[in-house]
Amino acid sequence: MNIKIRIDELRRLLNRYNYEYYIEDNSTVSDQEFDDLLHELIRLENENPEYKSDDSPTVRVGTVILDKFEKVTHDIPMMSLNNAFNEDDLYAFDERVRKVVSDVTYNVELKIDGLAGSLKFENGSLVLGATRGNGVIGENITSNLRTVKSIPLSIDYDNNLEVRGEVFMSKKSFDKSNTERRNLSQEEFKNPRNAAAGSVRQLDSKVAASRNLDMFIYSVISPVNHGLSTHIESLDFARKLGFKVNPLSKKCKTIEEVIEYINIYTEKRNDLKYEIDGIVIKVDELALYDVIGYTAKSPKWAIAYKFPAEEVITKINSITLQVGRTGQITPVANLDPVMVQGSTVSRATLHNEDYISEKDIRENDYVVIRKAGDIIPEVVRIVLERRTSESKKFSMISKCPVCNEDTSRKDGEVDLYCVNPFCDAKTIEGLIHFASRKAMAIEGLGDRIIEQFYNDNLIKTIDDIYMLEKHRMDLVVKEGFGQKSITKLLDSIEASKNNNLDKFLFGLGIRHVGEKVSKVLATKFKDIENFYELTKEELTDVDEIGEVIADSVISYFNDDKNKELLLKLKLLGLNMLYTSNVVLKEEFEGKTFVLTGKLELYKRDEAKALIESLGGKVSGSVSKKTSFVVAGTDAGSKLTKANQLGVKVISEQDFKDLLDR
Ligand code: NAD
Repeated sequence: MNIKIRIDELRRLLNRYNYEYYIEDNSTVSDQEFDDLLHELIRLENENPEYKSDDSPTVRVGTVILDKFEKVTHDIPMMSLNNAFNEDDLYAFDERVRKVVSDVTYNVELKIDGLAGSLKFENGSLVLGATRGNGVIGENITSNLRTVKSIPLSIDYDNNLEVRGEVFMSKKSFDKSNTERRNLSQEEFKNPRNAAAGSVRQLDSKVAASRNLDMFIYSVISPVNHGLSTHIESLDFARKLGFKVNPLSKKCKTIEEVIEYINIYTEKRNDLKYEIDGIVIKVDELALYDVIGYTAKSPKWAIAYKFPAEEVITKINSITLQVGRTGQITPVANLDPVMVQGSTVSRATLHNEDYISEKDIRENDYVVIRKAGDIIPEVVRIVLERRTSESKKFSMISKCPVCNEDTSRKDGEVDLYCVNPFCDAKTIEGLIHFASRKAMAIEGLGDRIIEQFYNDNLIKTIDDIYMLEKHRMDLVVKEGFGQKSITKLLDSIEASKNNNLDKFLFGLGIRHVGEKVSKVLATKFKDIENFYELTKEELTDVDEIGEVIADSVISYFNDDKNKELLLKLKLLGLNMLYTSNVVLKEEFEGKTFVLTGKLELYKRDEAKALIESLGGKVSGSVSKKTSFVVAGTDAGSKLTKANQLGVKVISEQDFKDLLDR
């Protein structure tokens, strides 16, 4: 494509997105998409300087301002910040700074996700509150900012003073506002940043007041006039005057310390009461600012590290159906692959029919994707503005997509199930589950192999797994296995017969009986023979077992087919007893361990099992109650936290010694 045409197109797009983001508070592309386009434009302009222009989005901060509010010219422009997206960008920033000044200190701060605001005080009174606007001219929003409780209306300081900071909405106020809006059938705010930006631009300050906004101050303008020589001093100065200053900033001597701080808050950000979208790194010595300098848009002495996107926008190419072990039929969106929080996502669950119709999700729509609980990707909402005539409504089937038998949806439930007990999809998923790592852990019997064996009639039911030995020759001839791998697979099947009862119970795939419940049931009732006679009372008497689980267990053990399967498996030699393999050891009994970093001597699961077998517990996070942190190589924030809290840290070798003692 002609470069000039692409540059014009990028400028047009970025101007539109800027307008949607800053003025309409309603973005139609994700920040990641925006940043990618901006970087493409920066690159093209650098490679083709003849096309540079003063009004390009690469040199302009923010966007145009509307006439809704009185315009305010900033005495000193309100700039943006250059962005860093990974460690390499941070090292490059450090190198650029140290090329100009070798001795430097950084202050690292949370990047609050709201909008920039400026406050001016004369003779101790608040006289002006303004937005950043396009950086040079902002909007006068004084009456709205006066309603923010954390902004002092008067301060004990006679000199003229301007401070700047982030106006934001806490997560709690955001939830409250959205509940109210839902009740009033008003459109909900998309995120706290959006909510804050919309609230400060209300013409009626009573509305702004009702939104419970807040403000953290992060800079004092013309600090030298106030006798300040470092940025940290200026934050303390603002704090003493009664401004709210975020307490979680940290002074760092090296870029490695900065990275460590970033790692800590990447983990902790969800625990904060407000949203942050990154970490800001600033040179602390104010005298160095002019030496290091500025670009048209941002200072060179600061940089904003942006967290990897948690929500991104992509396209749904098709919607397909997946039948699970329980027969549950789940619609799945097949997506144009995108990166979400560091991994590529190409499928996302759409949960059920209601979810699709409530959100009006259609094939060929653009959607916002997020990792729910940071693991499973899900579709948050559609981007209606990008819907085209290609958009295709999805209609749920009435027959199972695998066996074509009837489906059912129980009263009051949202999920659709295939009712055919012999549905291939259900059976295959059930077999996969039985052999999986957390159940019977049969090595070599993965998803693909099970499906193949099922289709070749080698394994149709769980007991067939234990009769595979008889088909040794078939495996060589039909499946193309080598003798060595057959022996390995058959050995692994044989070994699984000795698994403890909890693994076996979990493998059976009884509805509502997960890994933890299986363990609880096995420890309590010990022998499979005891399960046939269990009453609802006996079951619900056990902690963690409620009525739903009790009913499901009773119904499983009363079913003749299941009884027959269990008998066959017993005759085939599978262990049906629970044996406690916990041998208490003083160093481990009642102690809590946290494993962090890369372990060389043990696999994680193995170390966990060893600790538990000796009476200890393994936790995922460090607290004062942690007894030991076992730190492998490249241990990060957990190690730092352990040191901060004074928790005992041991090496992997120390851990081995403790085991061998
Ligand atoms: P920015 O968000 O990258 O960083 C600068 C801002 O950070 C400052 O103006 C300030 O408001 C804020 N900040 C928070 N805490 C701070 C602290 N402790 N110290 C200093 N500043 C702090 O810059 P920007 O110009 O506001 O926004 C640009 C970004 O906005 C883009 O990178 C993009 O991700 C997003 N954007 C998205 C769209 C879209 O359509 N999705 C459009 C325009 C911009």
